[in-house]
Amino acid sequence: MGFSWAAASDAGRRRASNEDSFGARPDLGLFIVADGMGGHAGGEVASRIAVQEIAAAIATTAHEPGGPASAATRLRTGFERANQRIADKAAASAELRGMATTAVAVLMTGEAVILAHVGDSRLYLLRNGQLDRLTVDHSWVEEQVRAGTLTVAAAREHPWRNLVTRAIGGPPGLVVDVGELALEPRDRLLLCTDGLFSVVPDTRIAEILGRSSDLSRVCHDLVGAANAGGGPDNVTVVVVVVETDAR
Ligand code: CA
Repeated sequence: MGFSWAAASDAGRRRASNEDSFGARPDLGLFIVADGMGGHAGGEVASRIAVQEIAAAIATTAHEPGGPASAATRLRTGFERANQRIADKAAASAELRGMATTAVAVLMTGEAVILAHVGDSRLYLLRNGQLDRLTVDHSWVEEQVRAGTLTVAAAREHPWRNLVTRAIGGPPGLVVDVGELALEPRDRLLLCTDGLFSVVPDTRIAEILGRSSDLSRVCHDLVGAANAGGGPDNVTVVVVVVETDAR
């Protein structure tokens, strides 16, 4: 299935460094966004390792027979390898101790896309003008919203809004949420860090995501909207569009 893509990443308006990372391997059908946290240099290192390890796991298994079940296993393995590698590095260095990262990844297969995530980076789908979120944040505020004890608006302002309940870089036995979605021509996928959706409402994301065939422009405008909203955090977006002549 053919697709086109673009990406953008920006430190935002208030942070000196960018601890987000993204990976694009169109040759493998793989796209990743990661939001690092912890320590001094730690966040940057953790998100970069996650992107590298997930890409390496997919690249070294690219010869395996295709199909959604196999693709899901390969992606899950990549997350587990990243978890191990980040934990090992953190244990070996005082400066990197406590580092961790979120990650959201999509692997395009012939008939579908496999998605996987840990933490509060998100995957959205824009189909026929409607925006759907395909991931559930592993975050304290999301748990409160789902339990009905916090509204979406209150979650956005809550002092604990950055608290993730699951991250890559912890003990073995990481639980990775993995799913599968049948794709349709013109579907637009958006992978992003919380620096986008913490300040840009879904209605605005949908409007920008759908309005141009120039995907670099779309990514630029999404980052611009986050910065126009104050740019409190690093912001990273990857957009993947399924081509109309697919199949
Ligand atoms: Ca962030």
